Order: sequence, then C-alpha cells, then structure tokens
Amino acid sequence: MTDDKGKKAVAEIDCLQAITQLYEYLDGNIDEESRASVEHHLDHCRDCFSRAEFERALTERIQESQKGKAPKSLQERLRHLIDSF
Ligand SMILES: [Zn+2]
Repeated sequence: MTDDKGKKAVAEIDCLQAITQLYEYLDGNIDEESRASVEHHLDHCRDCFSRAEFERALTERIQESQKGKAPKSLQERLRHLIDSF
C-alpha cells in the first residue's frame, strides 16, 4: 500500500467511522489527519456525502437559531444516526 506517488496516505475509514467523526468535522473541531480521512470518505461514498450535506445544513440552521448555545441534542442525533445505520 505504498503506491501513492507523492500523495500523503489517507487512512481508509468506514461509514460508521465517518459518521462518528462527522460532527467534529462539521464543527471544524478535528485534527487534520481525521479531516482528510472524512473528506476522502465523503468523496467516495454517496450515502455519507448526502448525510454530511444534510447535517451541514441542519447544523447551520441550529447554530443560527441558537447562537452561542451548544445544542445538546446533537449528541442524541448522532446516537440515532448510528443506531439506524
Ligand atoms: Zn460512507
């Protein structure tokens, strides 16, 4: 697995991992390596890409309606998302 010419290797993650990191990713509260992995996954997985787009829009709306407040339902939604996976 070293035939990435000049490219930094990106860790392959599965859908569950991508979703688990999605909120950190959307928050921008994620290290660079994980962000690269999530972006790499979203590039290749339609399901997760749609999910990410949906969550991104939702998160923006929540942040607009609750400026300054961290919605604690975020974690609950994440749990539902993983449960329904
Ligand atoms: Zn996926």
